[in-house]
Amino acid sequence: MKRILLHVCCGVCAFASVERLKEEGYYVETFFYNPNIQPYQEYLKRKESAQKVSDITKVKNIDSKYNLFSWYKLCKSLKDEKEGGRRCGMCYKLRMKETFRVAESNQFDYFTTTLTISPHKVSSYIFEMGKLVGGDCFLDIDFKKKDGFIKSVRAAKEFNLYRQNYCGCAYSRHDITKS
Ligand code: SF4
Repeated sequence: MKRILLHVCCGVCAFASVERLKEEGYYVETFFYNPNIQPYQEYLKRKESAQKVSDITKVKNIDSKYNLFSWYKLCKSLKDEKEGGRRCGMCYKLRMKETFRVAESNQFDYFTTTLTISPHKVSSYIFEMGKLVGGDCFLDIDFKKKDGFIKSVRAAKEFNLYRQNYCGCAYSRHDITKS
C-alpha cells in the first residue's frame, strides 16, 4: 500500500480529502502546517478541528510548530496582492515545501494537500507549487472533484466542525472585514 502525507489546512477540508484517499487505496497520515493563519487563536481553532477529523477518520496526525515569522518573511512584501495572486503562490509553496520535507523524512511515497478542495482556489496554481518543490512525489489531486466540497460541507454539519470565513492570513481577514 502506498503511503501518502496529506497537508491539511483545517478540519472541514480534511474530512472529504482523507476519505477520498482511503477509498483510492492509500495509507494516509495528515500534517497540519499553516504558519499563514492569523491570529493565533484562529490557528488554534483550525488546528483543533483538524485533530478532531484525524480522530474521527482514525488517521495519525503529525504536528508542527507555528512559525508565523517564516510566512511573513516570504509574503509581507506581497501584502497588496489580491487573493489568488503571487502572495498565495508563495504561501502554497512554503507549506508544500515543509510537507515534502516531512514526507521524505518519514518515508512517505507521496504528498498532497487539501487546499484544492476550496472552490475559491485555483487547483492548477497549487499543483504548480507542489510539483516545483516535490516533483513526482507531489500528487496533483483536485479534491473539489467527485463532490469533494459538498462532502466536506456535509461533514462539517454532521461533526460540528469549526468553519472559518476567511482564507487564513491577516491580509485575507482584512479583505473580508472591508467588504
Ligand atoms: S489569502 Fe490564503 S493562500 Fe493567500 S496568502 Fe493569505 S492565507 Fe495564504
